[in-house]
Amino acid sequence: MVYDSGNIFAKILRGELSSSKVLENEYVLAFNDVFPKAPVHILVIPKGAYVDGGDFFKSATDIEVVAFTRAIATIVESHGLEKTGYRLISNAGVNGGQEVPHFHMHILGGKALGPMVSAH
Ligand code: 5GP
Repeated sequence: MVYDSGNIFAKILRGELSSSKVLENEYVLAFNDVFPKAPVHILVIPKGAYVDGGDFFKSATDIEVVAFTRAIATIVESHGLEKTGYRLISNAGVNGGQEVPHFHMHILGGKALGPMVSAH
């Protein structure tokens, strides 16, 4: 699995593209999705170069994994999503419909999100 450092999120991490930041620390950046699919649509990415979930879950250091999951929890709490509910999605590869090959988690909320997978 080869990481393509020309991907959009790598450019955001390098400051070559701007983003609407929600949270940032040494290991994690979170920002609003530019094409939101729900009132809350935040992307959480590790600062390390990981292609997808399989890559991150297998190869990231313990501290990176903890920082990533805690960042999600912080955002869920700060956006008041615990009471109303929310959805976490991480697309991987062709069948997963992954568009940007830098591992990311979508946090979606703010409305009833409907079925998990569209039928077609
Ligand atoms: P994927 O399909 O890879 O799981 O999701 C990629 C997400 O990145 C999409 O929801 C898309 O709207 C979002 N996206 C693509 N380009 C940009 C960008 O330049 N800035 C931001 N903030 N989001 C982007």
